[in-house]
Amino acid sequence: MSDHLSDSFFTPVSGFELPRFAGISTFMRLPYVPPGAPRFDEVGIGLVGAPWDSGTTNRPGPRHGPRQLRDASTMIRAEHPVSGIRPFERVNCADLGDVGPNPASIRDSLDRMTAFYAGLREAGIRPLTGGGDHLCSLPILRGISDAPLGMIHFDSHTDLYHSYFGGEMYTHGTPFRRAIEEELLDPKRIVQIGIRGTMYDREDIDFAESAGVRIIRIEEFFDRGVADVMGEAREIVGTAPLYVSYDIDFVDPTFAPGTGTPEVGGPNSFQALEVCRHLADLDIRGADLVEVSPPFDPSGATAFLGASIMFELLCAMVTSPS
Ligand code: MN
Ligand code: MN
Repeated sequence: MSDHLSDSFFTPVSGFELPRFAGISTFMRLPYVPPGAPRFDEVGIGLVGAPWDSGTTNRPGPRHGPRQLRDASTMIRAEHPVSGIRPFERVNCADLGDVGPNPASIRDSLDRMTAFYAGLREAGIRPLTGGGDHLCSLPILRGISDAPLGMIHFDSHTDLYHSYFGGEMYTHGTPFRRAIEEELLDPKRIVQIGIRGTMYDREDIDFAESAGVRIIRIEEFFDRGVADVMGEAREIVGTAPLYVSYDIDFVDPTFAPGTGTPEVGGPNSFQALEVCRHLADLDIRGADLVEVSPPFDPSGATAFLGASIMFELLCAMVTSPS
């Protein structure tokens, strides 16, 4: 899917031509190409909004994330400042629109989203999703995984709990427990980075240890530094296909207050970007940035950081061998 830019159709609108405050917001000012639209079959990487937060167990709001991320992403330009990568010249990228949730039914939403992402897999499109809460990752994985994937997961939380509220299996605290049970992910090729905060109990940690999931707590992250930690993460996932999932609450709430379950003592906004710069050349089959919650983000700073992280993830995805 790489190196096949055909013409200017897939080029974002330049801020030199139309000021960035003008025009209709799409992700990174890309063309809007929903499934079935002309040239949909030429898309290599699809940016998708998942405006759904029915898995949220505490403070809601990420259903408003995609719209705010699109607005913030109009600040993004064409070239990565460090690597020099110009992602939109390497792979045809487009905004595929929103994957339609049903806020009255978790199961129906999961099914709709799974079908949407399965369609992207059939079309050979790799998704970069803006959430939505972290339960969104489960139907994405159901749609795109045809064999257990590895995963690099940035988060304050493991999201590996068995269930909430007396047996409810589908929340934003449980997606990766389900994904491992359903063999969408290979637990021995999962690394979770940034884990911290008070806990209900150790049930998720015990599960991770028994399944072989590698947890790099925030203390270890700061002791070793970004390059060392990400070097280990790359060894864990190896050269086989993987997914990258990025919960904005990985970042310290000083820099990303607009999220439902903040945890203090986290990475700064530079480190939030820096970790993504170590994802180059991995076989990334999809990625997401979740848990941006505009009701808790009155300055818009969290959404702008989220959009900036999405650009970093995109720059990694265009170097992927597949
Ligand atoms: Mn999460
Ligand atoms: Mn989290």
